[in-house]
Amino acid sequence: MPTYEFFCHRCSKPFEVTCSIAEYGRKIKAVKCTKCGSSKVVRRISAFQVQTAKKS
Ligand SMILES: [Zn+2]
Repeated sequence: MPTYEFFCHRCSKPFEVTCSIAEYGRKIKAVKCTKCGSSKVVRRISAFQVQTAKKS
């Protein structure tokens, strides 16, 4: 399963969320920090994923 990187603004810590492609759309909207439970999180795009997106 792919892993998605997020960054929590509340505790200023990065964390990862693992979910399937099928779950992604629904799950990513409700993602919360795994440490503090805050929903003030932003998606972090890794260099690899950006590169892949540009190709397609
Ligand atoms: Zn947090």
